Parts: sequence; C-alpha cells; structure tokens
Amino acid sequence: MIIGCHVSMSGKDMLLGSVKEALSYGANTFMFYTGAPQNTRRKPVSELKVDEAKALMKENHISLDHVVVHAPYIINLANTVKEETFQLAVDFLKQELERCQEIGTSILVLHPGSHVKAGEEVGLNQIVKGLNEVLKETTYQGKIALETMAGKGSELGKTFEEIQYIISHCDYPEKLGVCLDTCHIHDAGYDLTHFDDVLDKFDQVIGLDRLLVVHLNDSKNICHARKDRHANIGQGYIGFETLNMICHHEKLKDVPIILETPYIDKKPPYKEEIAMLKNQTFEDILK
Ligand code: FE
Ligand code: FE
Ligand code: ZN
Repeated sequence: MIIGCHVSMSGKDMLLGSVKEALSYGANTFMFYTGAPQNTRRKPVSELKVDEAKALMKENHISLDHVVVHAPYIINLANTVKEETFQLAVDFLKQELERCQEIGTSILVLHPGSHVKAGEEVGLNQIVKGLNEVLKETTYQGKIALETMAGKGSELGKTFEEIQYIISHCDYPEKLGVCLDTCHIHDAGYDLTHFDDVLDKFDQVIGLDRLLVVHLNDSKNICHARKDRHANIGQGYIGFETLNMICHHEKLKDVPIILETPYIDKKPPYKEEIAMLKNQTFEDILK
C-alpha cells in the first residue's frame, strides 16, 4: 500500500521538512503545495531544499514517482466571466508545471474549475481551452490529475462523464489523469458502499489506467449532499469499513493514497489514521 497525507512545506527546511513530516506519520508518500494553497506566490525551486529532500526520501524508500503536488485551489480554468481569472490560472499552471519538472514530481492534482453561472458546457470547454494552452509548450514530463469534485456551487468534475469530457476534448490526453477523492465523489452522489460498481463505472467512462491518485477522506455529509467537508477516517458518513476496503483494494495497490482529513485539536491525525488503515489486510476484513 502506498499511503501518505498532505504535508506542509514551510520554514527553513521546506521540502526536506515535508519529507520529515511524512516520515513522522509512517507514510511512504505525501502530497504538498508548492506554496500557500490560497495564493499564487511561490519561492524559486532552488530555495526548496530539493536535493536534501530527495536524499532523505531515497534513504527511506519513498519514490518521487508517488509524490503528489496539489495546485492552489483558487485558480479557476473554467472561468469565462473574468478574463483575468482565466489568464491567471493559465499563467500560474504553466509555471507550476515547470516547477514540478524542476523538482522531479510527475503528478499534479488540479481542481477542474467552476463555471460561475456560465453553464456546464461553457465551463468544460473553457477548461479544455486552458489545458491546451498550458500543455502546448510545457517541458513537464508528468501528468495533471483532474480531481473529482463534490459539485458544490458550480464546480465541474462532479461526474466521471464531465472528467472524461475534458480528457477526450483536450489536445494532450496523454498528459491527463484523474485524482479520485472519496469525500468528493460520495458528496457528488456515488455510493461508496458499492465500491466495485463505482470502480467499474470509472473504468467504463474514463478508464482505470487514468487513475493516478486517490484522496482518502471521510465525509461530514450524506451521499449526494454536494458539500465537500472532509471528516476523519471512520468519523463520517462513509465510515471506516468502506474507506479501509478502498485503500486495500487490489486494483488500487499501485495508486498513491493521500489523506486530507482535518486536524483534531490543532494536531495532525495522520499517524494514527495511517496506522489504523495499515494494520488491517483485505483478508482480515473478509473474515
Ligand atoms: Fe483537492
Ligand atoms: Fe481532495
Ligand atoms: Zn475537498
């Protein structure tokens, strides 16, 4: 099982600190933002202590191939209403891909975007246009993983069909994959208690080979609530049994699983949650 969580990158240790944090949780992968998730200010890669981070990863058998970068959630490629919002998203993403290439990561998670009342098809086409522009001249060798969304507000990517629409209309489908967020698809209306059916559906509509990363989160809301509020593992409406079954699923054994559950009393819950999920094998569940 390749399992980790979102970690921070700050202070003087930067990416080296991220690796240390991941190791302190017993993780063998992790996800980070290249700066604050809510803004687009970024330090040059030369200041991120990448070489030290890589050395520590190697020592601890963390593969760079499994490390995930998350694009800041304020950028919106679907925006057709404000030209500068769309342009900011395109410009930022171009730079982000170059940063990922310089660091050496190969999975960049991206929220597809919100159509802000312009309509779903208009928004989806704008995302395609943006991705084409971003991918046109990139040196990035990795992939963008479009995240499945809960569908709150005018969020796009709330169905596998919408994600597939983007992939199939983009000029560079070979550069695209998917990040499956369990809280989001549950909130969007997929019933995770029948996870094999959900995976079959994913395979039919998108293709399982596109699945690059799973965000494993419980949800504070019922199925189809379209809210997107993450709960700790076993503390929400998805429940431990289902989430445990998902992270031990045979078809997901090579896919990095990333926890994005909330802190409890200002403390990260990841060490305990990872231990909880690691200690049970699929055979144990079937017994
Ligand atoms: Fe996300
Ligand atoms: Fe997520
Ligand atoms: Zn979320």
